[in-house]
Amino acid sequence: MISKNKYDYIICGAGASGLLLSYSIINDDFFNDKKILIIEKDKKIQNDKTFGFWESKESLLDELVFKEWEYAEFKDSKFHNSFLLKPFKYKMIKSSKFYSHIGEKISKASNFTYLNSNIKSIDQENKLVKTDNGEFQSSIIFSSIYDDQKVKFKKYPLLKQHFIGWTIETKNESFDDNKITFMDFSVDQKNEIRFMYILPFSKNKALVEYTLFSKSIISDNEYENEIQNYLKEKNITDYTILDKEKGLIPMTCYPFFQKNTDNYFKIGTAGGWTKPSTGYTVKNSIDKIDLIINYLKKGKPLSKINFKNRFWYYDLIFLDVLIDSKGEGSKVFSDLFKNNDPIKIFKFLDEKTSLGEELSIFLSVNIITFVKSLMKRISNLSI
Ligand SMILES: Cc1cc2nc3c(=O)[nH]c(=O)nc-3n(C[C@H](O)[C@H](O)[C@H](O)COP(=O)(O)OP(=O)(O)OC[C@H]3O[C@@H](n4cnc5c(N)ncnc54)[C@H](O)[C@@H]3O)c2cc1C
Repeated sequence: MISKNKYDYIICGAGASGLLLSYSIINDDFFNDKKILIIEKDKKIQNDKTFGFWESKESLLDELVFKEWEYAEFKDSKFHNSFLLKPFKYKMIKSSKFYSHIGEKISKASNFTYLNSNIKSIDQENKLVKTDNGEFQSSIIFSSIYDDQKVKFKKYPLLKQHFIGWTIETKNESFDDNKITFMDFSVDQKNEIRFMYILPFSKNKALVEYTLFSKSIISDNEYENEIQNYLKEKNITDYTILDKEKGLIPMTCYPFFQKNTDNYFKIGTAGGWTKPSTGYTVKNSIDKIDLIINYLKKGKPLSKINFKNRFWYYDLIFLDVLIDSKGEGSKVFSDLFKNNDPIKIFKFLDEKTSLGEELSIFLSVNIITFVKSLMKRISNLSI
């Protein structure tokens, strides 16, 4: 019999990865007799994130999808490609719906306890989570608590993906609501990597997001001026801003997962689940959670899950190339979308391509730059 403060699993943080893990556990009868505690410091009610991701199959999250698209476009100042995403669909979920829906499932699940409290520390040796409301013990602790101040990135490349997005409503019909703008690099690159990302919810309503991949962030004014100018260039001047979102996502190959043990396992951004080359995390989390569930059900030790596959190395070199790109970073993305079937690129980002497909992708970009970055890594013995 497990005592009051003892659990089979404790999930630290009820953000994207903590809730996705909880949702998968709730939906699998295998875990019915497991006692689970999820701890979160904030009241998760706000619509603070617009989660976008692509999927080729139906998933648990489909009932939460606000809108999905079958077409996408990629642009730069000289090139424009609109394409059918099939077999993928690009799906969008509002975080407020995500938090409330899964939160409700947790509150109804008899094997789950939700604790609204601040986690002060995690004592791995004694498998203890210390909170403002007491201490809790567990055989396995999953943690999504991310503190970049504590990470020594050193030899691992780090770029910041940062953005401000406006959800606007226009007076006139201004958007093609069948098609997302995945990346529009036609904006001034200002010696960095800058693009617009657009999710049109209807012909009059869209999320328009100004995004940078860079070492340092910019002022809120600068993002917002760029959005305003971009809309003006498209003759969109009569609109109301309904909502704003602001974000900062680390793009790094730092091996957060190397400190995972059988009893302490990092999840989400804290576990290195943010795709280093894109910042996308949701899809990666879904895939990684499938793996965790599989390991738990088979009684396999979690420490044996290996996240350092060949795609990790590709991302490492890709990030190095972007960091050294001196304003030419957008060209790498343009080459990828110009010289390949875009579906192959989405498959590649999903880490589902074959070696042959990967080779053809590498040959479609300026391979010399990539080889130089690889050589630099090898000569520094830092791969
Ligand atoms: C604005 C924004 C938009 C994004 N859009 C996308 C997107 O479209 N597609 C995509 O794939 N990714 C997106 N991301 C990236 C990524 O999916 C999100 O950051 C996602 O929330 C990461 O999930 P996580 O579980 O790692 O972290 P979080 O969702 O941040 O969850 C961590 C949780 O831990 C809690 N916590 C932290 N410290 C403590 C403590 N001491 N005690 C108790 N609780 C604590 C936090 O309050 C938080 O709820 C976006 C990120 C941002 C910021």
